[in-house]
Amino acid sequence: MYNAESISKVLKGELLQHTGNPEIEHILLDSRKLTFPETSLFIPLVSNRRNAHQYMEEVYEKGVSNFVVSEPLEPGKFPKANIILVKDTMNALHALVAFHRQHFHIPVIGITGSNGKTVVKEWLYQLLEKDYNIVRSPKSYNSQIGVPLSVWQMKPEHTLAIFEAGISQPGEMEHLEKIIRPTIGIFTNIGEAHSEGFLNIRQKINEKLVLFSKSDLLIYSKDYLALNECVNAFHNVVGKKDNHEGGLQLFTWSRKTDADLRIIAVDKNNNQARIDALYKTEPLHITIPFVDEGSIENAIHCWALMIHLGMDQAVIQQRMDQLGNIAMRLELKQGINNCSIINDSYNSDLGSLTIALDFLQQQHQHPTLTVILSDILQSGKSDATLYEEVASLLQQKGINKLIGIGKNIGREKKSFQQITDLKSQFYLTTEEFIQSFNSQDFQHETILLKGARIFEFERIGKLLEQKVHQTILEINLSAVSHNIKQYQALLQPSTKVMAMVKAFSYGSGSFEIANLLQFHGIDYLAVAYADEGVELRRTGITMPIMVMNPEPSSFDAILQWNLEPEIYSLHLLQQFEEEVIISGKTNFPIHIKLDTGMHRLGFEKKDIPELALRLTDNEYLKVKSVFSHLAASEDPSKDLFTKLQGELFFEMSHELQKALGNAVIRHISNSSAILRHPNLQLDMVRLGIGMYGIDSSNEMQLRPVSTLKTTVAQIKHLETGETVGYGGKWVAKGPSVTATVRIGYADGYPRRLSNGVGKMLVRGQLAPVAGIVAMDMLMLDVTHIPDVAEGDEVIVFGEGLPVQQLADWAETIPYEILTGISQRVKRVYFQE
Ligand SMILES: *Cc1c(COP(=O)(O)O)cnc(C)c1O
Repeated sequence: MYNAESISKVLKGELLQHTGNPEIEHILLDSRKLTFPETSLFIPLVSNRRNAHQYMEEVYEKGVSNFVVSEPLEPGKFPKANIILVKDTMNALHALVAFHRQHFHIPVIGITGSNGKTVVKEWLYQLLEKDYNIVRSPKSYNSQIGVPLSVWQMKPEHTLAIFEAGISQPGEMEHLEKIIRPTIGIFTNIGEAHSEGFLNIRQKINEKLVLFSKSDLLIYSKDYLALNECVNAFHNVVGKKDNHEGGLQLFTWSRKTDADLRIIAVDKNNNQARIDALYKTEPLHITIPFVDEGSIENAIHCWALMIHLGMDQAVIQQRMDQLGNIAMRLELKQGINNCSIINDSYNSDLGSLTIALDFLQQQHQHPTLTVILSDILQSGKSDATLYEEVASLLQQKGINKLIGIGKNIGREKKSFQQITDLKSQFYLTTEEFIQSFNSQDFQHETILLKGARIFEFERIGKLLEQKVHQTILEINLSAVSHNIKQYQALLQPSTKVMAMVKAFSYGSGSFEIANLLQFHGIDYLAVAYADEGVELRRTGITMPIMVMNPEPSSFDAILQWNLEPEIYSLHLLQQFEEEVIISGKTNFPIHIKLDTGMHRLGFEKKDIPELALRLTDNEYLKVKSVFSHLAASEDPSKDLFTKLQGELFFEMSHELQKALGNAVIRHISNSSAILRHPNLQLDMVRLGIGMYGIDSSNEMQLRPVSTLKTTVAQIKHLETGETVGYGGKWVAKGPSVTATVRIGYADGYPRRLSNGVGKMLVRGQLAPVAGIVAMDMLMLDVTHIPDVAEGDEVIVFGEGLPVQQLADWAETIPYEILTGISQRVKRVYFQE
């Protein structure tokens, strides 16, 4: 049990203010995620962009009374609080959780590596949950912040812990090692991904190995040669350390050479893989319901661990056979009757429920938030306490409707019925719910499906989700967040960000992206037309929105919905001012666009005196910002031109500002200027394409945001000389196989990619377009790719096939491809 006094001792902090010792149970880092104010300890972290100390007042008002801070405070500001002063709040967080970890003497599995960490962790959970009471990292919580939050969940009733650790820079693993202190290590693999902060692959491996400095056992594959060499060197050092009882034992496996677990054969058929191995000369095998190489590797890691734990082969085989898919992400899909569905129906525990509820609470597109929740198994708590806690979570997150499924949750229904604004219904089984399902009961709701695996909530998902055409555009919201952070890192802390969400957020969908941007505290949004802005307002977006093409016919809407027009001519200024006067409003925000060389829209230098005259002491209009647009910020050969645009902008905006008397926000940079012209950052930047993962210079570490996917409708076997598609433009040069896929030019796939110009990824390999792209379908030549089957997924662009590549083939720019994807292609959103 922790309280302010004991935590202060652990942290060797100064107890600046001490008013009592209520029990502390939760660590709160993000004020938006506050759930249990009385028992939370708020630790405001400080980075170069954000200083969470600014949220202290907010959480104090909501009832938080315990704080660890690194800044002196105004005396008397938080009279009821306990305040511990430390040098650095991140170090304090790490030290506190490392202290917590020391109290547990159970096996702790630490997982690191480039890929597969989360799958291995979740599979181990599936494989071992019958034998242990397991605590594990929620989702992919593996960072400097995610790891402490994961380990803090350890409670006396747990008998096994599984945590993952990921790093992006040298020096980070040392902190994570102290917090996780794994007794058993798994090093999944090593790849080139995320290597930004590292000199080379060996440095990266050695840094990751730090996690196992005090471990008893390390499981890894010898087939990664650099990894094997580094592990051997590491073993020579730590194996002999005095403070390391018994040293580090290695458990190796290999498909190529002698190892503890020698894999001798992998046979794939019918979506199953049988893996045969020798363990100490004993032949063993498992079968898993997956055939991809990643899954095979992940399963072998789990197998090695189960062997090490001394588990019975028959049990191992039986459980491997039932490995399930892992929901790596929270998906937001379109549902029936104008509902949105978040399907997280693969597991259910308090940690992941909290994350899913946060995601649900961030959605504003429908008036009702609904949760369909199964029994939560193996929480280690009594049902009464557990569902009491779940009920208060639902209340805190503002959930309107609960459907509880299962014996236990039903037995505790009183906890939920006490909450006034929560409607609740209970069913004994999923079957019972499905029997009484009436689709009309769900209208305009955002629905979270959260169930333990045995409840088979995917069956409920099928009833609620809209059947989609099999071509979808997947949007990775976590990648958008990542990309924004990459650009923010290039900005001064005071520079504001306007996010460009015009053209349906460059094809990625409007409110879903805007919602995320609002959540991230972006300062401004910009759309091209007023109706796009109205749509955002209707779905609950409250932040300021600039409209770049305010047509007179849309002035009404602009005034009614508080949108902020870009004004680019004296004529437009006059027209808009008249509307404002009629509406009776004053100080209505506008943005002044200057033309500095793009020659598209904007005031010219000669207009400034007249403009200044009209705006000075104008009680109807208030200039929020002055801006211009660069014509060639991405092009080094045009840097002189860009510089001149910048200078002209300084001059013109200065002149205007002098006349107005008050300071206005100035902005001129788009995505590529943020990177290439830091001196043009000014007061705000306008981030567009970069947010969606595209940077023509390739210098940013961006993540792709959208993946366009479709499926194979039919396979054709052709003889030499047979032709494919309209006009018979493609002729089989030998016996050939083609796959007909469900995408055509009506979906936005350019027709000029016909006949081998464009290619798509099938089973990880490039397949050229065979023949002419038709309206709704096209054919791919898959002769060289074994085993392509109907229903196979086909990647049009995304991970492994960048949209830039597609744009190059089509001799256009990624902007055109992205915004050209037709609205009939359903967007599916997810968060990792
Ligand atoms: C679209 C747009 C941007 C964003 O440009 P990117 O190159 O996508 O970053 C910025 N400013 C204006 C005026 C725009 O129209």
